[in-house]
Amino acid sequence: MEKNSYDFELGKIKELIKEGGARRVGLQLPEGIKTVATDIAAKISKETGAGVIISGSSCYGACDIDEKLERNVDLLFHFGHSETFSFKKRKPVLKEKKVFFIELRSGVDVKPVVEKAIAEIKGDTVGLVATVQHVHALKEAKMLLARFGKKAVIGKSRLKYDGQVLGCEFSSAVVPCDEILFVGSGSFHPAGLALYTGKRVIAADPFTMQIGVYEADELRKKRYIAIERALDAKSVGIIIGMKSGQFNLSGAIDLKKKAVGKGLGAYLITMDEISEDKLLGFKVDAFVNTACPRLVEDFTHFKKPVISIKEFEVVLGERRWEDCFVL
Ligand code: SF4
Repeated sequence: MEKNSYDFELGKIKELIKEGGARRVGLQLPEGIKTVATDIAAKISKETGAGVIISGSSCYGACDIDEKLERNVDLLFHFGHSETFSFKKRKPVLKEKKVFFIELRSGVDVKPVVEKAIAEIKGDTVGLVATVQHVHALKEAKMLLARFGKKAVIGKSRLKYDGQVLGCEFSSAVVPCDEILFVGSGSFHPAGLALYTGKRVIAADPFTMQIGVYEADELRKKRYIAIERALDAKSVGIIIGMKSGQFNLSGAIDLKKKAVGKGLGAYLITMDEISEDKLLGFKVDAFVNTACPRLVEDFTHFKKPVISIKEFEVVLGERRWEDCFVL
């Protein structure tokens, strides 16, 4: 990740601290840019006089506000994500607004990597999407694609910006198109886009200039195998994610009732982070993840199957497996 190409909006942060008379502030950064946390903390502290506490906990999405830190600071700055519906729906920790999202807009020119990606595009029309870091550059990318005879559609999103996607929110990719062109880094978003739209996804990373191609069928096959492995389970652990925007107690309780109704043993298990060593101790045959809906895809190598809510409904005979990918 090119840390220096991001806009950390330090001017805005200093203003907010001054305006709010904040004496102590918290910083929460995604994993890839925690390396600059101490530099930012030192600058803020020096230029505003406010005390700064950095969240050392993991942070993977806008769903993941460090509420323990939020309770202990006057303002919390959450970097790398935009405000989402899960944040708007949450019960506020305190009445006054204390969390500010710093989106980390990238200053890197996306045109070179989009031009490189054109060689991989087979159809005439692409759905054009990006993470929040590059969403401001989509119109420029669209004009470039038009010059090469490709029509780009930037779809409306349930998120803050048209064309924006999250690992679990792809509404902007549901547009009439042959393929999807994703502008951003990593495989989390493009793999999810392919899985849930059923379309071929070309991923263009403006930082590394790498192009990746994700085929929906291959990814769906892996999920089918996970469901198949869970079909013989006599007991399941239903995982409740304790990250603020992932907590789904009522969904987990409903699933437990359904499982027990089908004669399975079912147990509710809370977790902050899901890892194989944390699951190993539980005497159940499979796990159902009610936290981040995308995490199950990382767990295909675990000894016991980990499946999503919809996939578990397939196991219970309540859903067709093709319908697991309904957005
Ligand atoms: S629920 Fe998962 S995919 Fe969605 S924002 Fe949170 S970490 Fe990302």
